[in-house]
Amino acid sequence: MDIQFLGTGAGQPSKARNVSSLALKLLDEINEVWLFDCGEGTQNRILETTIRPRKVSKIFITHLHGDHIFGLPGFLSSRAFQANEEQTDLDIYGPQGIKSFVLTSLRVSGSRLPYRIYFHEFDQASLGKILETEKFTVYAEELDHTIFCVGYRIMQKDLEGTLDAEKLKAAGVPFGPLFGKIKNGQDVVLEDGTEIKAADYISAPRPGKIITILGDTRKTNASVRLAVNADVLVHESTYGKGDEKIARNHGHSTNMQAAQVAEEAGVKRLLLNHISARFLSKDISQLKKDAATVFENVHVVKDLEEVEI
Ligand SMILES: [Zn+2]
Repeated sequence: MDIQFLGTGAGQPSKARNVSSLALKLLDEINEVWLFDCGEGTQNRILETTIRPRKVSKIFITHLHGDHIFGLPGFLSSRAFQANEEQTDLDIYGPQGIKSFVLTSLRVSGSRLPYRIYFHEFDQASLGKILETEKFTVYAEELDHTIFCVGYRIMQKDLEGTLDAEKLKAAGVPFGPLFGKIKNGQDVVLEDGTEIKAADYISAPRPGKIITILGDTRKTNASVRLAVNADVLVHESTYGKGDEKIARNHGHSTNMQAAQVAEEAGVKRLLLNHISARFLSKDISQLKKDAATVFENVHVVKDLEEVEI
């Protein structure tokens, strides 16, 4: 499982950073890619990656500000033009209004898509668990921005223990239906009377990963709740140390506040994005250095950077 950052800038694109979008690549797990936000130019960034647009099965939108959604009509239209590729349906999750934005853009531009889009809109009253699949559960909670904005907590379900086939063979279990029984946790007795306890041959279940991806926000308890014990927290850092007041006025956070959230939530790793174009490269290393005084395992991400989870 990887996160690839497609746009890490705040508000408007710059030469180094495009506006918000990131891809959660779940190729090994479910052979799908989930996109979080889709700022203008996201499809151009995708061209520089190995991501195939038809693998994007779900798009999650944090809020309706333009730098997070203006790339949707273009991406959705281009996704239809994939010669020789099977058309696959798509789900879009986001605040109320996202459906009307997408459908209006497609209608007035005369765009017709050969695949279906299923919209899942929510408001303050309908947050909580917004998706449950065989392998993942996704929760959303309201953050504190200048318009309705959410953060997402993506929880992979625990992974079943695996069968130790070599050890079974060594114990004299013939390959065949007995393997299946043991894999299902059933104890068996071999022809020679040997008892085989399934638990001795199955590794313990491994806990699933937790990924927290937040939209734009002031520091708020909801961020901490969404991030509790996460393997990775992706948090905005529109402002730097000392700019707490201006951050508050604009509905954003500083690197220090992001680090405090990471610390309070007990996450493993903090990735800072939504970086203002005002910051030069020396400022970026300062952003990291300052944040690290509060939470050590912090990194400021770049466009197209890939992070393994
Ligand atoms: Zn915003």
